[in-house]
Amino acid sequence: MAPSWLIFLGIVAVIPTSIAAASAETSSSKTIKTDVVIVGGGAGGAHAALRLKDMGKSVVLIEQDSTLGGNVDSYTPPGTDKSMDFGVFSFIDYAGATALFDRLNISTAPPARVRAPTKYADFTTGALIPDYAAPASAAARAAMEKYLSICEEYEDMIIPGYWNFPTGGAIPEDLLMRFGDFVKKHGIADAVPQIYAATGFGIGRQADELTLTVMQTFGAQMARSMLGRQGGFITASHRNQDVYDAMAREIGEQAILYETKVMRSTRAAGFGVVLTTENQRTGEETTIQATKLLMAIRPVGEEAMRPFSLDARETSLFSKFDYHRVWATLVRHPSLTAGNTSVDNFPAAVAPSNYLETPQVPFLDKFELQDNTAGGLESRVFRSLVIGTKDFEYADAKELLQSSLDRLIEQGILPRTSAGKEAEQIEVVALSDHGPMHVRVSADELRDGFFQKLYALQGHRSTWWTGAAFASHFQTIIWELNEVLVPQMLGDK
Ligand SMILES: Cc1cc2nc3c(=O)[nH]c(=O)nc-3n(C[C@H](O)[C@H](O)[C@H](O)COP(=O)(O)OP(=O)(O)OC[C@H]3O[C@@H](n4cnc5c(N)ncnc54)[C@H](O)[C@@H]3O)c2cc1C
Repeated sequence: MAPSWLIFLGIVAVIPTSIAAASAETSSSKTIKTDVVIVGGGAGGAHAALRLKDMGKSVVLIEQDSTLGGNVDSYTPPGTDKSMDFGVFSFIDYAGATALFDRLNISTAPPARVRAPTKYADFTTGALIPDYAAPASAAARAAMEKYLSICEEYEDMIIPGYWNFPTGGAIPEDLLMRFGDFVKKHGIADAVPQIYAATGFGIGRQADELTLTVMQTFGAQMARSMLGRQGGFITASHRNQDVYDAMAREIGEQAILYETKVMRSTRAAGFGVVLTTENQRTGEETTIQATKLLMAIRPVGEEAMRPFSLDARETSLFSKFDYHRVWATLVRHPSLTAGNTSVDNFPAAVAPSNYLETPQVPFLDKFELQDNTAGGLESRVFRSLVIGTKDFEYADAKELLQSSLDRLIEQGILPRTSAGKEAEQIEVVALSDHGPMHVRVSADELRDGFFQKLYALQGHRSTWWTGAAFASHFQTIIWELNEVLVPQMLGDK
C-alpha cells in the first residue's frame, strides 16, 4: 500500500523504493504533511513562505537560527530601547517592497547613515595613509552617471532573475571583463570608492572580479539610489528584524521549525520529498512529507549539502560556484572608544587616488563608529565586516579583528589607553555568520550557459531554488524573484 502521505498528495503511481524506505525509516518520528517545505528562512525562504500562504498553500519553513531574516542582524544594547542594524542596512524600493512594508505594518525612514570622522589605514601594517584623496563630488557623480547608463543597458539580463541572460558570444563583453579593466575602459574610476564602500568590499578584491559580479552587488538600482533617482528605506525602529518577525507572524509560528536542520532527505521527480529534520537544541526529530521542496540556502559546501543527497547534475553545477565567507560584527575596545573615529582599511597603494587598490582577502573592511550612544560613550560599539576565504573559521575572523586592532594601536592610529588596556582582547559584542556569500562562476562557465543550466534545475527532483545563488544580492530583488518563481513552482506538475 502506498504511504498515506502519497495518497494525501493524490499520487497514485509506482513508489520509488528510496521514498518508501525514507518513510518507513522515520515512522517513529513526528510527521508533518504539507504542500511545500522550505529550507532557509532568510530573504528568499521567508518571503516565499509568506507568498505561498497567500496563495492558499500549506508550508513548513525550516530555519537553523532562532529567528527568520538571514543576513538581517539587529542589535539592541542591553538596558536600552535604541536598536541598530549591523547586517542588512536598507531596502531598495523595488517592485512590491513598499506594499509589503505597508502590509506588514512596518514604519520606514530614509536610509541616512551618519558618516563619522574617518582615518584611512593599511590594516596589514597599521600605517596611516595620510595622502589618500577621495574624488571630488562632481567627478564622483559624473562617473556614477556613466556607470548607471552602462548598468541600465544590461539591467533586464540581471534582475530580478537571469531568465534573459544570454549565452556564448551574445554576452556583452563588458559583463565578462575584470572590473578593473571595465573601469579603465569607461573612465569611471571616480565612481569606484562609492561602489566599494557600499557593497563592493563583500566580493573581495573587486578589481579582479567580473563586472557582472560587481553589478550583481551594485547594479543599476544602487547607482540610481546613490544619484537620488530610486528610493530606499530602513525601518523607523532601526531594527530590520521587525520585518522578518512580522513575516513570521503572518506565516504562522506553527509553520516554522526554528533551530532545525535537515538530517537526510529523499527527493524524487513527480513524487515529492521526504525530509527528516532535527531540532538542534532539543534533538526532536520531525519528518516532513511535501509535494515540493523550495531550497532557500546557498547550495555550496560539501557538508552543508550532504543531507540533500545532490545528484551528479546538481553537484556538477554547484561545485562551480566560488564564494567568500562573511561575518558581520559589532566590537568594542577601550582604544576604539578613546579614538572616537572610524578607521577604513585600504592598502597603502591606494594613495593618492588609485581607487582600484583594495585589500586582499582575508580582510576586514573597517572599524566603523556607530552613532548609537545609548548606554553611554563607554558602551559605544564599532561595526566590522570580515571577508574570509571558503575555509575561514570564526576563530580566524576573531584573530583578524584582534591583530588589525593591535597594529593600529602599535602605529598610533588609535590611542594607547591606561597601562595594559591595549593588551585587552577585543570584545565581540554581536556576531553574525553570514556563511558563503556572493557565489559566482567564471566567464567561461557563463559563456557555456551556466545560468541556463542552473535555472533548468527548477523542478528537478521536486525541488526548486531561490535566494542569492539564483538572483542578485538584494532583499527586494530576491522578493521579486519569488514573485515570478512561486507561481511557476505551483504551476509545475
Ligand atoms: C553584511 C551584509 C549586508 C547586507 N546589506 C544589505 C542591504 O543593506 N540591503 C539589501 O537589500 N541586501 C543586503 N545584503 C544582501 C542580502 O541580505 C542577501 O542578498 C540576502 O539576504 C540573501 O537572501 P537568501 O535568502 O539567499 O539568504 P539569507 O538571507 O542569508 O538566508 C538564508 C537562511 O537560511 C538559513 N540556513 C542556512 N543553512 C541552513 C540549513 N542547512 N538549514 C536551515 N536553515 C539554513 C540561514 O540561517 C538564513 O536564515 C547584505 C548582505 C550582507 C552579508
